Formats: sequence, C-alpha cells, structure tokens
Amino acid sequence: MAKHEKKEKEAAGHGALAALSPFELKDELIKAAGGAAVERPANVSMLNAGRGNPNFLATIPRHGFWQLGLFAMRESERSFAYMPEGIGGFPKHEGLAERFELFLRENKGVPGIDFLAGALSYVRDQLGLSGTDWLYEMCEGILASNYPVPDRMLKLSEVIVGQYLRREMIGKHPFIGEFDIFAVEGGTAAMTYIFNTMRENHLITAGDTIALGRPIFTPYIEIPTLNDYQLKVVNLDAKVENDWQYSNEELDKLRDPKVKAFFLVNPSNPPSVKISDESLQYIADIVKERPDLILLTDDVYGTFADDFVSLFALAPQNTILVYSYSKYFGATGWRLGTIATHKDNVLDRLLAELPADIKKELNHRYESITTEPEKLRFIDRLVADSRTVALNHTAGLSTPQQVQMVLFSLFSLMDTQDAYKTALKRLIRSRKRALYEEVGISFKDDDPNQVDYYTILDLNFLGERAYGPQFVKWLEDNTKPSELLFELAKEARVVLLPGLGFGTQHRSGRISLANLNESDYRKIGRALRKLMDEYVERYNTATGSHLKPGKAI
Ligand SMILES: *Cc1c(COP(=O)(O)O)cnc(C)c1O
Repeated sequence: MAKHEKKEKEAAGHGALAALSPFELKDELIKAAGGAAVERPANVSMLNAGRGNPNFLATIPRHGFWQLGLFAMRESERSFAYMPEGIGGFPKHEGLAERFELFLRENKGVPGIDFLAGALSYVRDQLGLSGTDWLYEMCEGILASNYPVPDRMLKLSEVIVGQYLRREMIGKHPFIGEFDIFAVEGGTAAMTYIFNTMRENHLITAGDTIALGRPIFTPYIEIPTLNDYQLKVVNLDAKVENDWQYSNEELDKLRDPKVKAFFLVNPSNPPSVKISDESLQYIADIVKERPDLILLTDDVYGTFADDFVSLFALAPQNTILVYSYSKYFGATGWRLGTIATHKDNVLDRLLAELPADIKKELNHRYESITTEPEKLRFIDRLVADSRTVALNHTAGLSTPQQVQMVLFSLFSLMDTQDAYKTALKRLIRSRKRALYEEVGISFKDDDPNQVDYYTILDLNFLGERAYGPQFVKWLEDNTKPSELLFELAKEARVVLLPGLGFGTQHRSGRISLANLNESDYRKIGRALRKLMDEYVERYNTATGSHLKPGKAI
C-alpha cells in the first residue's frame, strides 16, 4: 500500500478499525450502540442512519406484479397440459389479450388492476408494441418456466426499460442513436461485471491508471486496489466548500493520457449532489479531446434529482451507464439493475484496436459462443463473462425479476405528472429540514443540484462555521478520527457512517435520509447538537476559552 493510502486508511478509523470499510465499521458502531449487528424489530431505541436502504417502497407496481402472477397462473392451468395433480403448461399466445381484459374486468377495483390496465394501454398506444406479445413475455416471465432468452435481456422488456432510462437519464437532452441494455442483479452485479470484463479484455490491466470522482460509494475505492486489479488511482475531489462540485482543475486531471477510465457516481454518494450542468459539459469537452477515455457513471440516485441528465446523454459513445432500481422503488431485495452502452461505443473500438496476440487470446476465450469472436461486442462479453463464458447459454437475470423491472419502469413512464417522484422528494427533504433544525444548521434550500438522499455533516466545515478554525484544530488534535461517531453511538445510540471511508477530505458523518422517520431525524439532530456542545465545553475547559454552546451554525 502506498504511503499516502496508508495514511488515509489510518485517518478513517483507529486501531484495528482503520482498514474497515464504512459498512463494516457500521457493525462496530452498532455494537457500541448496544444493538445487534443484525437488526431486530424490537431494537427500537437504536437509530441507525447508516443504512442506504430506504424505508419506503413503491406499492402500485408491486400490486401489479402479484395480480399479473394470478393471471399467469390461470393461463398456465387452462393450457392443454393441466392436470389436477398440479401440472400446468405454458401460456397460449392466441386470445391472450382478450382473456387478460376479461381478467381485468372481473377484478375491477382490486389494487394493481387499474395499473395493469394502464400498462397494457401504454405499451400499445404510447410505445406502439403488440399488447399480446408483451403479455406473453410477461406471463412466461412471471411463471419462470423458461431460461431468459435472449440472455442479455428479454426483448420487449429491453424496449420498455430503455424508454424508462431515456426518460430518467436523458430527458430532453438530444441523443443520437440507440443503446443496448444488460439486465443485472442490481448495481452491485453491474460493478462486479464491468470491472471483471474490462480486465479480462485488457481494457484495464494491472498498473494502469483510472480516475475516481470522490467522495464515492466505497467499493469503487476498494476494488481497484484488490490484487485482482492493482490499478493506480487518480482522485478527483469534490469539496464541501464548492457545494460538492468538482472544480475545473480537478476535472483537468482527466486530460492526462495515462488515465484510461473515469468512474463516478452521479448524483454522488454520500454528498448526494448531482454534477452541475457546467461540469458535465466540461467533462464532455475533455472527452472530445480524449476520444479513448472510458467513462463509467453510476446513476442510481439520478431518479431523485430535479431535471436529471446523465453523463451518458452528453458523451454516449464513451460512457457505460449503471442504474439500479434498489433505491428509488425501495427494492433492494429484488436485485434489479441495468448496464447500458451505446450501440456505437469506444469500448468496441478499443477491442478492435487490441494487439494481435491479445486478440488471439480473446478469440480463444469467446470461440465457444460465437463463430466470430472478434466481433463480439463489449456488452455481450459482459453477459458471457458474468457466467464464466462457458455458461453463457444460461446467463441472464431471472425472468420474474425482469417482469418486476418492467412494471417499475412502466409505473414511472405512466406517471406523467411525476406524482411518485415528487412525493419521495418531499419525504426526504422534510427529513433533512427536521435534522438540520435540531442541529441548528441553517442551510440554503436553493441549490438545484442537491438531491438529499444522504447528507454529510462535515465536522471541519460546520465546526469552523460555528466556532472558528482554532476549535476545529483542537478537535483534530485531541480526538481520533472515528471517536465522535463511537461516542454518538454509545451515548445516544445513533449510528452514522464515517465520511472518510467514502473519500471525503475531512472527518464527517454520512446520514442516510432514506431510512428513518422524521421524528427520528429530530432525535439524531438533538444528539448531534448535544455532542457538539459537550466538545465546546471541553474545549473551553482545556483552553480557557469562552465559546458559547448551542450556537447556530
Ligand atoms: C446502493 C448503491 C449501489 C448498489 O445498488 P444495488 O442495486 O442495491 O446493488 C450501487 N451504487 C451506488 C452508488 C449505490 O449507492
């Protein structure tokens, strides 16, 4: 480990805790808070704001899923093969739409039925697809009686999810051409597959340099240093003083031809701020100078932002887009995510430009699945590699998962007034207001880039704002990096994650605004205020100063 990395690791914790990721450190904090690492419902007095898992979930498309399942069962049992011993058959194409409409009429008023009726109309009238073909794909998918074919993604499902991604990630931004989607088991699988296939295909090799936009979801910091990858990392730091935006000087680091790829999370985790339009354009302009630069943008929080436009819209040929349904639909248990790449992209071009000996090696790798391995596109290599190539024919996301993904997507597409989105935003923003009020932090609510899925309380920034630089310096000299978080856990049974583990510049706590109720955020706010005031008293005693506890920040 390089010296500076070691220092950073040490800064992230103390003692044996230093090397722990913030997600593992959380378990230690939970122990300190007197809770069990695996939470039980009875564990009410502990407030765990460390979890990114939302405490809300989208009900309407789930109702739709269960009703569709009942219809599909009816289809299976009416088929020729049904036997009373419990053996059904596949759905029948002929007359499927008519039987579905009958089912909808019979169940009028049942939750999910209106949604399914709307979905069928939307698929037919707005997307111009065959209602029967769509119903067949959905019924077969929800019965899960066939392998996923095509393995990358079911056909009409890809069209519908593509429309959803277009609406949420591209919006009104001009976009030329088409993109392909690989349906995967959440953002987690997307990251694993992408890193792996890039390495297997020599798009990144040990000793190569990649750039990371920080603060960032910790796995992006940890994976490149694993012995599997051994990548050099250039950090682009967004700073609290700059409202968590990247300065142009930081972005200029991407001009270095050594940097092969830039990985970013937008809107960010944990500051939960989307990259400004100016910075997105700045990156897109750099890409014009550096057409070989690979971008990976993880936009799982994009759907919470106002007027979100992904880097994928601005630099489509260079960008791998990762999206997950986990956060927005409260669906972490479903494991639903997508990887999208433009049909004309830099990855396929770089594959075509690989030296002859490496091409030979890769032709051998993929020759069992195609007669023209050299032409196998990056996205199809992702699919093959996700199942160690040899199991390519049984690759793909389970079909019921794809059905729920389609229903989530349609739910969002049909919500032309953005009622769901607006309600979610209202929810998380009122939680933030409650928290900040209790801590005594005034904040401007006018930053259009703020998303507020998480908030970071930056000790240096807030401490200095309230009590000046001497106080912050004293805190740094007299406390260990995660000491305050442990104190908060012990004294108030409040669990936050350390921002340092996500690559923040200063000591800070990440508070998820997604997973507790408003009154809990008030309690957390009061606990934070109390802790801060205690440190002000200690500072006064130690230095003979007369700072006033309770000061507004
Ligand atoms: C939560 C999260 C993920 C993981 O998403 P899953 O779909 O639940 O696997 C990926 N990236 C970021 C930035 C996240 O916050």
